[in-house]
Amino acid sequence: MGLMVQRSTLPGQPLVRGAQLRLGDRVLPLLSPARVYVCGITPYDVTHLGHAATFVWADVAASVLRAAGVDVVTCRNVTDVDDVLTRAADARGRAYDEFALYQEYLFDKDMAALGVHRPSHAPRARHFIGQVQRLAAALLASGHAYQREGHVYFRGRQVVARSGLTAEQARALAQEYGDDPDDPLRDDPFDVPVWRPSDERQPAWPSPWGPGRPGWHAECAAMAVAVLGTSVDIVAGGDDLRFPHHAYQAAMVEAATSVTPFARAHLHVGTVHQGGAKMAKSTGNLSLVSDLLREHPAGAVRLLILDQPWHEPWDYEPARLAAAAATLEDLYAAAGRPDTSPGATDAVIEALLDNLDVPRAIAVARTSGGEAARLLLRVLSLV
Ligand code: ZN
Repeated sequence: MGLMVQRSTLPGQPLVRGAQLRLGDRVLPLLSPARVYVCGITPYDVTHLGHAATFVWADVAASVLRAAGVDVVTCRNVTDVDDVLTRAADARGRAYDEFALYQEYLFDKDMAALGVHRPSHAPRARHFIGQVQRLAAALLASGHAYQREGHVYFRGRQVVARSGLTAEQARALAQEYGDDPDDPLRDDPFDVPVWRPSDERQPAWPSPWGPGRPGWHAECAAMAVAVLGTSVDIVAGGDDLRFPHHAYQAAMVEAATSVTPFARAHLHVGTVHQGGAKMAKSTGNLSLVSDLLREHPAGAVRLLILDQPWHEPWDYEPARLAAAAATLEDLYAAAGRPDTSPGATDAVIEALLDNLDVPRAIAVARTSGGEAARLLLRVLSLV
């Protein structure tokens, strides 16, 4: 599969506007094309505002790169081989792949309504089983993995060391996100399956190690390499994917390819809370994207997400959405005014390239009006 490049969507702009993008403490000198891997959904349930925040921010990061004159290749995977999904499909008496496709359709509908661009590539895990097996074979060949009773385990001790977490923290997170540190087959509690055997209710493919299915981190590692190559510019996802998922994804790719770092920077988007707790289906405290969009314009929901630092957790309250709608009206009014400051469009791009500082870009656009406001509205997909 070749790299499919999305050209700059801002005609009439200079080809090079900024030389680098800062994301947190990483400063990326920009080359073109930029490769952005967005850790996508496990399609088994509804899309809430917490999911939307991740995908809207990833969308805007790509859009900012395009505004700076960089071509962007985006890959947003679909984790359609996953035990949570299999169980959800099973409970409804549906085949996992058919159930996943329907959930994917609902997700795509929500994303389209929110104005999130379609990614250049949207690989589904079940179509990349051969690539996962190739990854497993490479990790076995280089001594980074071992085979045991139908499993291929990746050696993960150094992943924890690199994460900066204590063993206790890492163990708690591994358990929370579906790994099993107490599995007695493993040499080390932090080894994770690249491949594992399936029981009769789980999807299974033939492999040199027996019939089975991939592990979650290996799926994203294999899809990223297959679609974008051995390294990427940005890995995006919710903050809760930092460990274990993205830590193991990177470690597997680096171990197999000897190319480091796998990701030049991360966009780990702050968690969205509601009523003081993390927004989640399991606890019932959530706002569905489809419900919010029934009552409010998509631009207001996007601005609710974007008008704050991308990396910080925040609490959703309806009053914030009303404030975002008012800001959006201000920006539309500013866009209709004549230009007052010729350098303001550059100031908007500079603010966005500086850690995606949307509040600063809004302040510039509001003050200057005219083309600066119109440019910001286009880059944030608010028009
Ligand atoms: Zn992933």
